[in-house]
Amino acid sequence: MGIDSTAAGQTASEPADDVTLTDATLGDAALAARLATEAGTRLLEIRAELGFEDGPALRAAGDAGSQKLLAAALGHHRPADAVLSEEAVDDRARLAADRVWIIDPLDGTREFAEDGRSDWAVHVALWEGGALTVGAVALPALGATLSTATITPPAQAESGPPRLVASRTRAPRLVTDVAERIGGVVIPMGSAGAKAAAVIRGEADVYLHAGGQYEWDSAAPVAVALAAGLHASRIDGTPLRYNQVDPLLPDLLICRPELAEPILAAIEEFSAG
Ligand SMILES: [Mg+2]
Repeated sequence: MGIDSTAAGQTASEPADDVTLTDATLGDAALAARLATEAGTRLLEIRAELGFEDGPALRAAGDAGSQKLLAAALGHHRPADAVLSEEAVDDRARLAADRVWIIDPLDGTREFAEDGRSDWAVHVALWEGGALTVGAVALPALGATLSTATITPPAQAESGPPRLVASRTRAPRLVTDVAERIGGVVIPMGSAGAKAAAVIRGEADVYLHAGGQYEWDSAAPVAVALAAGLHASRIDGTPLRYNQVDPLLPDLLICRPELAEPILAAIEEFSAG
């Protein structure tokens, strides 16, 4: 049983599937992880139901189906909170709110609609009073959900060149320049969540992006990365700021902490030159 897509269908007395807490006591981090996981399950169902024949229809159904589930669930569990979603009209009331959920119901919609790809994700983050406090990134095709509540630092880096994950479709020149400077290799991958997850899970060392992004692309991945002890910042080294008037947040660096300084120095040099 998943979370019903209508708020009326869920009651506190209904048996929970993966948690034993009632609505009132379900903490924000556990709720984020549960909702991201449930939305991911719904997305897998949509993939199975529609198949891959009609890409545009599958992409639209995925975005809409996950948005519907998450909006209903957040409305039910946290009715007083504001929500900023890629798939909903931006209600600027969020700018005066103390608690704002920042969600991307389906990150990597393109990859979601390609048979066999697992580089797509569901992002659920919570911003409170100026900072991200909670985040969950579900990787439904891998059966994994990364949560600020449970994440641990990645294992020691393997010997060998640093591995940089970068956009599959719009890797900017900056990424190849930086990779060359630090003696790294570039691994193309879809979905900001999947790329961040690769670094968080120790399968890569750096996620560098400079091609344009929005708050919902990075909020949950950044929350989890910071909880895992990784570096996360703008590419000029300044902090990532969320719940801004304009949700455009165009660049991002997530990496092992020991790589931040050389990478930021290289970026500064290339940007100046
Ligand atoms: Mg999306």
